Amino acid sequence: MSTRTIPSALGEVATGDLGITLMHEHLFVLSPDSQINWVRDWDERQQITDAIDRLKRLRVSGVRTIVDPTVDGLGRDIHRVLTVAEQVPDLNILVATGIYTYGDVPPYFSYRGPNRYRDLPEPMVELFVRDIREGIQGTDVKACLLKCAIDEQGMTAGVERVLRAVAAAHRETGTPIMVHTHPGTRTVLEVQRVLDSEGVPPAAVQLAHSGDTTDVDHLSELAEAGYLLGMDRFGVDVILGFDDRVATVAEMCRRGFARSMVLSQDAACHIDWIAPELLDLLPNWHYQHVLDDVVPALEQRGVEQGDITAMLVDNPRRWFERS
Ligand SMILES: [Zn+2]
Repeated sequence: MSTRTIPSALGEVATGDLGITLMHEHLFVLSPDSQINWVRDWDERQQITDAIDRLKRLRVSGVRTIVDPTVDGLGRDIHRVLTVAEQVPDLNILVATGIYTYGDVPPYFSYRGPNRYRDLPEPMVELFVRDIREGIQGTDVKACLLKCAIDEQGMTAGVERVLRAVAAAHRETGTPIMVHTHPGTRTVLEVQRVLDSEGVPPAAVQLAHSGDTTDVDHLSELAEAGYLLGMDRFGVDVILGFDDRVATVAEMCRRGFARSMVLSQDAACHIDWIAPELLDLLPNWHYQHVLDDVVPALEQRGVEQGDITAMLVDNPRRWFERS
């Protein structure tokens, strides 16, 4: 197997050393503007200590790498990530660039780039490429994946603008792309249309949240097309329950698609989007759920060890190696 290096928060890491990789976890998902205005009890030191504890526990459980696709729109603060990463140096934290929106572009970009008054050049591409080649927010921490989103609102003008900018940055750098999707509405088919027109090969694209559906025929088609499917919201049981999520992965393995899936939780050390009372409804939504509960449940359903290793180790490695 070929090996190469990719950037992590603490510098280059060999793809052969990624080990067990959770392909979609956040450290912090925050709303900086709202936080500045409304939050009075944010304790930065406490939050960082808590994050370090959680990540150390995750490392002890055997996970060697997490991919944190927190970008503009999710409150990315690379300095905070770096502070945490330095205290857990044996865990690789891979970070992303891009923009997260289901509707409009962030207001900062509304009248930068093409707009109703002037057809200005798109500034996003250069910014994404800078994050990949030079570093994020003035640090030398480089992004190793691009992130964008589409949800049930479908291909809005803002979503399409970000998607095409992400595709252009991919063409320039080879960096793989993670797309947040909403499989229940099959809006991913619109993503497929735009990325095809931009010349992005499906093998460079990870469809996050594919595990939110039990529609294995739809998932099989996407896997056949060459996409990597993120079965990455284990623990978000209010969207789809544990048994359904496990059964879907097991059925996809039975159909021979173990090499097209990755397992993760989309969890965070801290997310300010959700009231604590609501978080109480999600007792399994944490970093340890995949290794503690999901893997044993898959084994119980007859999923072979080789398939589990593919989803946790080989597929993440291969996805980054092809970039
Ligand atoms: Zn996420």
